[in-house]
Amino acid sequence: MPSGPIGIFGGTFDPIHYGHLRLAQEILEHAKLAEVRFVPSGTPPHRGRPGADPHHRVEMVRLATADNASFTVDDRETQRGGPGYTYDTLTELRQQIGRQRSMALLLGADAFLDFATWHRWRELLDLAHIIVAYRPGYPIDTWQARMPGALAHEYAARYMQQPLAVHLAPSGGIAAVSMTGLDISATFVRSAVHDGSSPRYLLPDAVLAYIEAHRLYH
Ligand code: ATP
Ligand code: MG
Repeated sequence: MPSGPIGIFGGTFDPIHYGHLRLAQEILEHAKLAEVRFVPSGTPPHRGRPGADPHHRVEMVRLATADNASFTVDDRETQRGGPGYTYDTLTELRQQIGRQRSMALLLGADAFLDFATWHRWRELLDLAHIIVAYRPGYPIDTWQARMPGALAHEYAARYMQQPLAVHLAPSGGIAAVSMTGLDISATFVRSAVHDGSSPRYLLPDAVLAYIEAHRLYH
């Protein structure tokens, strides 16, 4: 059992695509994480376009991550049903891994800008670190100005220049890393499938084959 920092990567993954996979791979390497655990969320309350059922989203994440020994899938949120809170998930995980082991929540820049609206967001930082990856559309020079005040305050107070600093404490810091900019969204993949154009090369072939086999997003 590895005891290095564990990365927790939540998302709808509707479907998972190369933007998600590169984020996980690049943060894994920058922060020398022992593992990235993908946690597909339960069904979100509002969704513009019909998405895939939770069991399909989990299966697609399994297919996409199967050949990477550092990637694992945790389906506790979809098993629980309903939208669910990251706070509950991290609390449970913290109980399982103990107080000492470092844990980091991985977020894209857009998700981080919303972070201060999350349930018990400040307490989340007692449970884990945060590592943010810049996402196209959220350039480094302007994104700090886009943070709401309370979040900007926490960011400044907890900022770690080095993502490797997640090795020094179990939780509480915020690091930001750049990653290969991939302007891919699940929304775009869903619309492409719906419109009959191919999303090939934006996501793994195995995931696309699964989408076709189950007629998802049509
Ligand atoms: P949707 O279009 O349905 O919102 P999405 O592509 O944004 O889907 P999510 O499941 O909403 O994917 O995102 C999960 C996490 O992955 C979030 O933290 C988000 O910021 C991050 N993420 C998604 N796509 C990218 C990308 N192309 N580059 C970097 N981060 C990304
Ligand atoms: Mg999104």
